[in-house]
Amino acid sequence: MTTQETIELFDKYVIANYGRLPRVITKGEGCYLYDADGNKILDMFPGWAVSAIGHCHPRVVEALRKQAGELLHIDNTFYSEPQGMLAKLLSERAFGGKCFFCNSGAEANEAALKLARLHTAEQKYKFITAEGSFHGRTFATMTATAQPKHHEGLLPLLPGFVYVPFNDIEALEAAFSDEVAAVMIEPIQGEGGINVATAEYLQAIRRLCDENGAVMILDEVQTGIGRTGKWFGYQHFDIEPDIITMAKALGGGVAIGAMMATEQVAASLIPGKHASTFGGNALVCAAGVAVIEAIEEDNLLENANRLGQYTMDKLQQLKQKHSIIDSVRGVGMMIGLQLNGPGAVIVNKCLENGLRINCTQGTVLRFMPPMIANQSQIDQAVEILDSVLSASAKMSP
Ligand SMILES: *Cc1c(COP(=O)(O)O)cnc(C)c1O
Repeated sequence: MTTQETIELFDKYVIANYGRLPRVITKGEGCYLYDADGNKILDMFPGWAVSAIGHCHPRVVEALRKQAGELLHIDNTFYSEPQGMLAKLLSERAFGGKCFFCNSGAEANEAALKLARLHTAEQKYKFITAEGSFHGRTFATMTATAQPKHHEGLLPLLPGFVYVPFNDIEALEAAFSDEVAAVMIEPIQGEGGINVATAEYLQAIRRLCDENGAVMILDEVQTGIGRTGKWFGYQHFDIEPDIITMAKALGGGVAIGAMMATEQVAASLIPGKHASTFGGNALVCAAGVAVIEAIEEDNLLENANRLGQYTMDKLQQLKQKHSIIDSVRGVGMMIGLQLNGPGAVIVNKCLENGLRINCTQGTVLRFMPPMIANQSQIDQAVEILDSVLSASAKMSP
């Protein structure tokens, strides 16, 4: 099929709820995408943070092939080895909690919100979330997402949610009461524009949750599984949450989500209270195990730290050169460039020149390189961005 023919299929048969780039991707390999017209694209935003160890990582592909030959799916009426193994590997790399498996980030957050209500006293029903957050698209997680643009046309929202400005301890203290069941927060806001929480802020959440008998939920859907140079984002901040949620990078490209809760909190999720038909099936959990093994055996956390710092330094140098860049921020391989002008046109120009990056909140360019990237790939990406910024500076008055 030609690119045009595929696009026509979409125009006729696929709901137009995404703004898509006019490319048909036919192959992904490591840091590269290939389209139906034979173009090779350097991917610095692989799979919207899903393909964090690169496209089609050989270990993940091999694990999927092997598992597919044995057992694809078995419902949670039974036990299966990959789910148990994945839970163990995750638990050992976080705070020793227990896991519930589902199929996406939103579902993991739904599970966390439900568990927080189940675990806390009856009068506790409120959830505190932060402005600029992103927690998903289901009704509860959309309501938790404190961005008015995501609520337009969808009112009324779910009751019980309270929004506070991000990184503002006083506002958090003012919002707290004994009616609060949980605080849910991203340690680094992703869709919100790569906004890094301060350690003091996360520590204040921990303290206020403890004082008020509330549950601290960290949404690690974007920050989890090595992206920041540690297994989980919270590990940069000297705190331990009660619940973390994860998805995106966890399956290396297959659909999986997970919630991990401390043993004490997890005990409140008893049979009949929550479930997922597909959740934790053998195929996706085998992929998850392979992702963790790949990160460990190929030293990808170390690479994310080292190369993340290298990327930040290179982008800081670009800032000296291009006045459209206001600031560069991030942790590990999760990096944002705050522009003082629109970013979408830059993203499109980069793609025309063989580089995929992303823009969020209109003016924040997101660089989230695969953890397997090497220095020359980063150099190449920064070079393309540099030339695109130079060309667009010439075009605008
Ligand atoms: C992407 C994202 C979600 C939603 O994940 P889905 O798999 O799209 O449901 C939730 N929280 C954060 C922080 C995310 O980045």
